[in-house]
Amino acid sequence: MRHIHTCPHCHSYTLEDSCPQCTQQTILARPPKYSPEDKYGEYRRKAKELSHEHMEN
Ligand SMILES: [Zn+2]
Repeated sequence: MRHIHTCPHCHSYTLEDSCPQCTQQTILARPPKYSPEDKYGEYRRKAKELSHEHMEN
């Protein structure tokens, strides 16, 4: 079964492993794992750093 890939270079969609437009290697359009928690974790870390800087100054 073939999956839809997307080209990180020109953002075109293809079923091939390489982009027909610019021959760049394509990546799966839908990543197998997506965890929004990581994003929030990063955001919280940044917020913590910012508040820490704020407290020090
Ligand atoms: Zn491309």
